[in-house]
Amino acid sequence: MKTVINGRKPASLFRFFEEISAIPRQSFHEEKIADYLVEFAKSRGLEYHRDEANNVFIKKPATAGKETLPAVLLQGHTDMVCEKNADVEHDFLTDPLRLYLDGKLLRAKGTTLGADDGIAVAMMLAVLDGEVASHPAIECLFTSAEETGMDGANRFDYSRISARRMVNLDCGALGAIVAGCAGGFRTDLELACKTRSFAGQALRVSVSGLMGGHSGGNINSGRANANKLMGRLLAALIKNQKVCLLSLEGGSKTNVIPRECEAVLAVSDKDAAIDCLTACAAEIADELSDEDKEFRVTCEAVEPAAVMFDEESTEKLITVLTCAQNGVLAMSNQIEGLVEFSRNLGVIRTEGDKVIFFFSTRSSVEGQLEAAMHELDLFAKLLGASAKHHNRYPGWRYVKSSGIRDAYLQAYHDLTGKAARVDAVHAGLECGIISSKLPDMDIISIGPDMFDIHSPDEALDLDSVEAFWKTLERLIEIL
Ligand SMILES: [Zn+2]
Repeated sequence: MKTVINGRKPASLFRFFEEISAIPRQSFHEEKIADYLVEFAKSRGLEYHRDEANNVFIKKPATAGKETLPAVLLQGHTDMVCEKNADVEHDFLTDPLRLYLDGKLLRAKGTTLGADDGIAVAMMLAVLDGEVASHPAIECLFTSAEETGMDGANRFDYSRISARRMVNLDCGALGAIVAGCAGGFRTDLELACKTRSFAGQALRVSVSGLMGGHSGGNINSGRANANKLMGRLLAALIKNQKVCLLSLEGGSKTNVIPRECEAVLAVSDKDAAIDCLTACAAEIADELSDEDKEFRVTCEAVEPAAVMFDEESTEKLITVLTCAQNGVLAMSNQIEGLVEFSRNLGVIRTEGDKVIFFFSTRSSVEGQLEAAMHELDLFAKLLGASAKHHNRYPGWRYVKSSGIRDAYLQAYHDLTGKAARVDAVHAGLECGIISSKLPDMDIISIGPDMFDIHSPDEALDLDSVEAFWKTLERLIEIL
């Protein structure tokens, strides 16, 4: 096989990465990569287990003199996000990725690179292949379908694992350790509205031009939520005159900060309504961050409909928009700058006489998530609405003392003379599921530098991979 990456060490690590890049590994299509891993284990006489979810678990005994040390678990996922540029012909179920070098960066032509999390797979294979001279018993867990809800990690039988210290290889950057992640759940809050025959003048009000972003990673960015801003506009308007809503539509995905929201309403005095909304929009524009400088509110007269929601239902809808807690709800008191608890009112849809509000709530503290569900239940009850919670996944709470974290800090310091940074992320990782299944597992999450993951611009910094490998090797040697 003609290789793209040459002259980098350890050679086997980069060879494994190139080999798996030739294997299609879309989420829920991990058969071929699981076959490859099983073949790898068989050919080296390593104990392995493959389950129905195409998770693969491979064990390697300790080297001489380290048999009495406790085992360590390495873990990463085999599937990848499959995104391509519109002008690229690529079938993710059959075609190999086309890797190329862009200086020290590795990329794939027109598609995602799958370094998230293929680099973890390659590193675990290099360890299992004997690239680390001295180590305790190694257990490697290759999980499937992480990118689509962590299905593999959820279905694995954890009684197979004896290790109680673990390195997840799906996060971080060179010189940084992730030591906690958020859990979360989704809520569909549904309000059945009363209708009456239309009266007044119909107006469409649109909020647009906001920056948006990921409801986990960007929730602390100060970017405004279009649905919440619509709430503020409508609340200002009902103080001013009689308003009845006809519909509310906002946002695109529950885990994305909404950039747009649209309301159709009936007002008694259209011109006064536009004046009021324009004044309120100017007040808001003045408060927003530079990222949201394209913020616009537009008002246009539209054809009246046969019916509209009555005043009481309209007031309830505006109450949901204004009173549901949203954005950053708590910061960590353990890690500076880390969001601990947040909510995003991502999407609003009107279906006939029902309006449904879709929320995503995240927290790295389990008790907070339970309390947040009760809070939304009570809020819904107060309004005569219903709240359905789903997609619940556990968080991984930061702990003050961690042996494996100390070992990594030591290894990194030994090699660089510098202190690694300790972070936590306000998003979900498989570490949350694993720590819920094995609560006494001591975990860190680390990885090399990657850019623009989940997009065709995804790039892996090969210099950082070499430096990261040395730290991982050192860590395993001193464990
Ligand atoms: Zn990943």
